[in-house]
This record gives sequence, structure tokens and C-alpha cells, in this order.
Amino acid sequence: MQQYKLMDTDVLVIGSGGAGLRAAIEAFDVGVKVLIISKSGIGKAHTINAEGGVNAALGNVDKEDNWKIHYEDTLKEGHYLSNKKMAEILVKEAIDSVLELARWGLPFNKTNEGKLDQRYFGAHSYRRTCYAADRTGLAILKTLIKQVKKRKIKYIDGIIVTSILAKSNFVYGVTCVNFKTGEFFVIQAKAIILATGGFTRVYKVSTHPEESYGDGIAMAYRIGTELQDMEMIQFHPTGMAFPAKYRGILATEALRGEGAKLYNSKGERFMGKYDAKRMELSARDIIARAIYTEIEEGRGTKNNGVWLDITHLDPKVIKKKLPKMYKQFLKLAKTDITKEKIEVTPTAHYSMGGIKVNSTTTETKTRGLFVAGEISAGLHGANRLGGNSLAETLVFGRRAGVFAAKLAKKTKFQEMDLARIKKEYKRITSPFKRGRKLEITEHMLKEKVRKVMWEYAGVKRDEKMLKLGLNEINKIKKLANKISVSGSLKRNHGWLDFLDTDNMLVVCEAIVRSALMRKESRGAHWRSDYLEKNDKEWLVNIICRQVNGKMLLEKAKVIL
Ligand SMILES: Cc1cc2nc3c(=O)[nH]c(=O)nc-3n(C[C@H](O)[C@H](O)[C@H](O)COP(=O)(O)OP(=O)(O)OC[C@H]3O[C@@H](n4cnc5c(N)ncnc54)[C@H](O)[C@@H]3O)c2cc1C
Repeated sequence: MQQYKLMDTDVLVIGSGGAGLRAAIEAFDVGVKVLIISKSGIGKAHTINAEGGVNAALGNVDKEDNWKIHYEDTLKEGHYLSNKKMAEILVKEAIDSVLELARWGLPFNKTNEGKLDQRYFGAHSYRRTCYAADRTGLAILKTLIKQVKKRKIKYIDGIIVTSILAKSNFVYGVTCVNFKTGEFFVIQAKAIILATGGFTRVYKVSTHPEESYGDGIAMAYRIGTELQDMEMIQFHPTGMAFPAKYRGILATEALRGEGAKLYNSKGERFMGKYDAKRMELSARDIIARAIYTEIEEGRGTKNNGVWLDITHLDPKVIKKKLPKMYKQFLKLAKTDITKEKIEVTPTAHYSMGGIKVNSTTTETKTRGLFVAGEISAGLHGANRLGGNSLAETLVFGRRAGVFAAKLAKKTKFQEMDLARIKKEYKRITSPFKRGRKLEITEHMLKEKVRKVMWEYAGVKRDEKMLKLGLNEINKIKKLANKISVSGSLKRNHGWLDFLDTDNMLVVCEAIVRSALMRKESRGAHWRSDYLEKNDKEWLVNIICRQVNGKMLLEKAKVIL
């Protein structure tokens, strides 16, 4: 390894989605030096895709609503696996967080009285999802970026963090690669906020973009940090089923929130069989299972989906409240949603599991490592309420910022461990030294993993399939250890695929092992060999960590 460049900062924020940006703003306001780095360009993080809205029990539309009911809805839909303290913090603090965004100029849709409008989302008792048409995530990012720029917080994009450096269970920096130049370098920090987002791109059919392979999860796991609830993957009921190229792209829940109905190929409004009371506004896990069952039992459309129909609404209302959906279906499926029904199918959407955090501070068991946003576990339990994740990025992003900055203020830089840094350089450049026998570009490892996850650990699971899935993952792991990458270190997509695959394999092993361990059906985790919920044995979180190079799983009490 040649000499590496060294940078330093008090608080290092990894990720520039809603959570990372909100954390950076708060850490800066506490009065420390903050640096944001991310793979994505500023304003391009996955949060940009969030459509339907962000929850806050303002009671603007339904006066009866309040944070206590929001709290109950969150716990109930999480099937009581949520960390109660986190749920309470979320529902109380989401109110201020959303109002703060409005003060910062976010163009929320308003009621006739000029208050923030609120729409229905599935499984909510009242209308409490605030929105900016169906581009809420984009509006949030724009608003936060303005605040970041106003404070002149330093930001570097196109940076891939490859590992977290920790000594005696205390973090002291990260190793990174600049994708454009191929340069390897180190950033020293007194505290780190990991906000690298979710990981459902490890599934073949997914609403997530290229980046969401779970880098943060794998990096934290490798330094011994605990993961939690990794089996809990939310399959959103309505991804696009057609055309095949776009299968999985989200058809926002706001469509159903605005009254869209689901029909099978026989024209039956089938939700009556699965949740007669809430129908299309039932919980996501219930609707995803219902659609899966309709398709499996032969009542699906020719593209293996079901119909979603919003044509009863006035086209003007559709274009005003759901402009992104209108354009998305027109462009990608040549379908005018104001006139025609659309084909939808379940798609991997959200990772309820992730890194275990302290409910109040968001710090992990690794000192100095704070976590916020979709990468964190605890809040959503076995099933996330739509609209709660944007709220989570704001509320826990802010908390991560405060507590990381406070810790940084009283912490000194630690000494660098050169041997550890050299070892990481060797790990990430190892495929360049393996000759050209097994070129990564020819073996498409990422696609192999994604296919395995969809087929063996998807919406419906059982022991036999999960075991086969684990076996397939182990085979790909062996292949990945032999795979080679050629070319230079600059803008090398094969190298990026190698790094992504290495992380995905950790994430997928944790998902499959946790899914195998949980012998019941609960929320998003649907086991056809254990159809019932078993509170006696399984009202627990599954914790996953690395011990002596092996993945160890154990049960832990839900935090009250
Ligand atoms: C299509 C879609 C619609 C949604 N709609 C809603 C909605 O209406 N309401 C709602 O509440 N939720 C919604 N969600 C969920 C919500 O958008 C996400 O949970 C949330 O935006 C996650 O934000 P985040 O800040 O945690 O992560 P992200 O926005 O995913 O940001 C992660 C950041 O980490 C960076 N990163 C990752 N790995 C590395 C690495 N190794 N090195 C450096 N940087 C790295 C990325 O570049 C990125 O900047 C939706 C999700 C999808 C997919």
C-alpha cells in the first residue's frame, strides 16, 4: 500500500439521505466540525424516491388524532416487536420535526384553512400523513440541503466507505475509496453517524435503487456491532408488475390512500376476504400476502400481478395529488392511470431490521458509532407503518446529531492502527491479484444473490427453502472469494460490484439465518410451515453478531 491520505473531523456523517442530512445539521448546531460523505451525489440519495408522505399526529384533518393513537398504531402494526421507547420518541417528536420542515420552507400540500393537509396511509386510525404531492422525499431532501448549505457544512460525494475503524470497542475513523479517482484514504473522527439506508436491493424485485445493498450493516457487523430483526423485510404490496424491466418499482400507497381499489383477474375486489374492515387500507403485510395468494391460486393477471384501479377519481385530482405516479405509469408502462387500471405485485421495500441502537441516543454497543434512518433497527418491529420512516429519518437523525456531537466534544482523536488499515487495503484490492480466470463482470454475482433471496427468502418462507437459500449463499460466498477484477482502480464498476457483493453476502446470511430461527409467522415474516403467531416463544427480537468469525444468533427481550 502506498501512503494514504488522511482527513479528520469531529463528527463524520456517512450518507446524505434524510437521516444523514438531518443529523449533520444538528451536530453542526451543537458546535462541532462536521463532514458528510456519501456514495450518492448531494440530493440523489434514496430518500428522493419517497413519495406518499411523512407522519405526524397533528390532527389537522381528523381532530381526534393525537400522538398516543399514533403510538398505538405503530406498536400494533409492528406486532409488538417495536422498541416502545423509540416508538414513543418518534410519535412525539415527529410533530416538531414536520413543523420545522414547514418553517424551513418545505412546500407541503395545505388544507383550505392553510394547515398542513394529511392523507390516509394503510393501517393508520386517522389521516396523519403530511405530504408534498407524491414527491415528499424529494421535497425533504431539497429543504435539508438548503439548511446544510446555509451552514456551509462540508460535503464530499462519490466516496465509498469500505470499513469502520475501531479499537477497544471505540470507533476512530473509516477507510474509503474515491470512486472517480480510485484513491484509498482514511478519515479520522471522534464520532461517526452511520446513515447508509436500507438494504432491500438484495432482492431481485425491489423498490430500492442500486446503492441499497447494506454496506453499513456489513461494516458494523464486521466490528462486532449487533444487528437486530434482520428477518423482518417489508414487501410492499404494490410494485409495478409490468413491464418486466421495471418490475418492482413502487406504486405508492398514496394511490390507495386516495381511494384506489384492488381487483383480481376475475374482477373480484378480493381484499374483502383478507381484511373486510380495512380493505385496501389494511396493513402492508396483510395486503402483500393477499396479493401473493391471489396470484399463487391462479387469480393473477397475465404478468403475475393484480389490478389496482384509481379511475373513479377526477383526473384533475389525480394529476394534482399524484403527479409522479401519473407520469411514471405513462412513461414506463404506457398507461394513463386516470383512464386505465394498472398491474401491481409485491416488491421488497423496506428493512425493518438493521443495527441495534440505544433508544435515546442512537448509539450502538460500539462506542462512538451512532446510527439513524432505515439502517437502524427497533422502531418498526415486524411491520412498518407507511410514512413512519421519513419521520424516523428526521427524529432519530436529529438525535444522532446531538448525541454524536456531544460525545465528540469530550473525545480526543485516537491513534491510527496502520496494520489494520493495511489489512483493509489488502482485502479490498485482493480481487485484482487473482488473475483473470473468474472475472466478476462475467459472473454477475449481485444478480445471482438477488435471485436467490427472492426465490428462497421472499414473501413466503419455509424451512426447506430457507436452508436451500443459505446453501446457495454459501456457494456464492466461495465463488466471491475467488472472483477477480481487472482494470485500474478508477471508476471501476467491477470493483464496485465486488465490494457490494461482499457486503450483500453478510446481509443476506443474517436475513436467512434469522428467518430460519423465527419459527412462527409475524407481520412481514410469513412462514408457511409455522402459520400462527406464537407470543409465548417469539415475542422477542433476534440479535445477530459476529463472534470469532461466525454469525451468532440469540433471542433478546423486546425493550419496553
Ligand atoms: C420508492 C419508495 C418510496 C417511499 N416512500 C415513503 C414514504 O412516502 N414515506 C415514508 O415514510 N417512507 C417512504 N419510503 C422509505 C424511505 O424513503 C426511506 O426509509 C428513507 O428515505 C431512508 O432514508 P435514509 O436517510 O435512512 O437512507 P437513504 O436515503 O437511503 O440514504 C443512504 C445514504 O447512504 C449512502 N451510502 C450507502 N452506502 C454507503 C457507503 N458504503 N459509503 C458512503 N455512503 C454510502 C448513500 O449514498 C446515501 O447517500 C419509501 C421508500 C421507497 C423505496
